[in-house]
Amino acid sequence: MKQFVVIGLGRFGSSVAKTLYQTGHEVLAIDGDREVIEDIMDSVTHAVQADATDEQALRALGLRNFDVAVVGIGGDIQASILCTLIVRELGVPFIVAKAQTELHGKVLSRIGADRVVHPERDMGLRVAHNLVSPNILDYIELSPDYSIAEVAAGKGMVGKTLRQLDIRAKYGCNVMAIKRGENINISPLADDRLREQDILVVIGSNEDLRRLEEEA
Ligand code: ADP
Repeated sequence: MKQFVVIGLGRFGSSVAKTLYQTGHEVLAIDGDREVIEDIMDSVTHAVQADATDEQALRALGLRNFDVAVVGIGGDIQASILCTLIVRELGVPFIVAKAQTELHGKVLSRIGADRVVHPERDMGLRVAHNLVSPNILDYIELSPDYSIAEVAAGKGMVGKTLRQLDIRAKYGCNVMAIKRGENINISPLADDRLREQDILVVIGSNEDLRRLEEEA
């Protein structure tokens, strides 16, 4: 079981903290606002009011013993940067930090965040993809060029096997999984036949995914 510390409990941080706790992990939640701490107290292991830019305070909370730190401070860029730097120096092995802008994200990476997330940008991108192409139900950008998309099986696909559709050869994409209602088949076989309302989880270049989606 990993130990997580989540610092800055706005919409993003509190959602991360609660979800980690609900999935059975130990979560220390830190925020400067007393009301925020009172609100989250029953949904995490420990909740402490502290200034995320106060190195002594974070040290005293034993942060160096945690496996992962999530810095959820977004709006106050200075606090986000200082806090990320402090957790790095305290020796937390893995740091995830939330960025407000591209530049903010770059700074966070430079000072030692192992993973930088841009929740608003990424969600915007997913919503936009879904609006433009209703067949694309979800979309995760892996890099600027490659993504994972959930594509609804179109009329032309229903009743055919993966072998018949030959998606890898035709589109250069790989079908990683097939979702069918509540079930998910994570190792689809060539002879698996698609049904109406199946959802393909496909990985590929953005260009190839777009072609697949258009013809799906
Ligand atoms: P979101 O957009 O996810 O709601 P915000 O950036 O608005 O994120 O939330 C920031 C949270 O971080 C707030 O709850 C705020 O009290 C907390 N916070 C901001 N600066 C500090 C700080 N220096 N020390 C502790 N908590 C902070």
